[in-house]
Amino acid sequence: MPNLLDIQDLQVHFPAPGGVAKAVDGVSYSVMAGETLGVVGESGCGKTLSALSILRLVPPPGKIAGGKIVFEGADLLTLSNEEMRKVRGKKIGMIFQEPMTALNPVFTIGDQIAEGIRLHFGASRQEAWDRAIEALRAVHISSPEQKVADYPHRLSGGMRQRAMIAMALSLSPALLLADEPTTALDVTIQAQILELLAELKDKFSMSVILITHDLGVVAQMCERVVVMYAGRVAETAPVREIFANPKHPYTQGLLDSVTSRRRGDGRLREIKGVVPSLMDTPPGCAFHPRCPKVMDVCRVKIPELKKVGKETETACWLY
Ligand code: SF4
Repeated sequence: MPNLLDIQDLQVHFPAPGGVAKAVDGVSYSVMAGETLGVVGESGCGKTLSALSILRLVPPPGKIAGGKIVFEGADLLTLSNEEMRKVRGKKIGMIFQEPMTALNPVFTIGDQIAEGIRLHFGASRQEAWDRAIEALRAVHISSPEQKVADYPHRLSGGMRQRAMIAMALSLSPALLLADEPTTALDVTIQAQILELLAELKDKFSMSVILITHDLGVVAQMCERVVVMYAGRVAETAPVREIFANPKHPYTQGLLDSVTSRRRGDGRLREIKGVVPSLMDTPPGCAFHPRCPKVMDVCRVKIPELKKVGKETETACWLY
C-alpha cells in the first residue's frame, strides 16, 4: 500500500524562559492508504500536537519549527494559506474528544454540515441541506430529516459525536484525524462510536489516525501503532507485534497497566513517576527516570529510532 501521509522529522516548539520547549522533537511516521494508525501515549506526549501540525493548526505561541509533512505528494508545510484551507476539512478531516469544539452552539447541525459542503463543493443551498441529511443518515442518527434542524445542545453526547463525524465525513476526506473521539463517552456509547468509525472507514475508503491513550481502543481499531513519549517516537510496530512482543520499556509499561486493569488485579500496575514537563525534559532518554531497565548510557545520550524487527522500530539503548 502506498503512503498517503509522511511526517518527517517534525519539530514543534513553544517559547520558554531561556530558550524553547520542544513539544514535538523529531517525530516521523507515515500512514498508508486505507489503514488506521494509532498514535498512543500519556497526555503531554505530543500526540495531539503532531496531528494538529498536519492541519497546520498548532495553537500559538507554538510553531512548527522544522520537518516535512508530505500528503498526496505535496509538503503541507510549504502550501499557501489559501491552498491549506482547501486541504482542511476537504482532504483531511478532524474529530475531537469534545464535539462542541467543532460544533457551533448557535447554528443548527444541518447549517453547519451544509456550510462545508457549499464551501468545498460549490453545492446549492438545497443540495447541501439534502447531503447533510444523508450524512446524518450515514452515521445512523434516527429521523435525520428532523435532527438536521436541531441545535447541538438538543442532542445527547453520543449523538453530538455522531453529528461531528457526519460533518467531517460529508466532505469525503482521504484522511481522518480522530483525537480521543470516545474518551468523554460512557462505555456503551464508546463501543458504538468505535464500531461506527470502523464501518465508515471501510465505506469511504479513508485512512484514519486515531489518537488515544487507550491501548484497548488501539487493539480494536488499528493496524499499526506509534507510541510517543515526551515529544518523540518511542516505538512503532504493527498492532499484533506491539501486544505480543513490545520492545520499548515504556510500551511494556503501558501494556502492563492495561492487562492488570483487564484482569481486575487488586493493585493496578501503573508506570511509576510522571510524564516530564516540556520545560524540564530529562537529558538522554526522556523515559530514564521512570524506566525499570535504565542503564548509564540512557542518562546522557538520546536513543534514535532503530529497526529491531521486520516492521518494528524502537528508540531504546537496550537494542
Ligand atoms: Fe529505558 Fe534506557 Fe531504553 Fe530509555 S533507553 S527506555 S532508559 S533502557
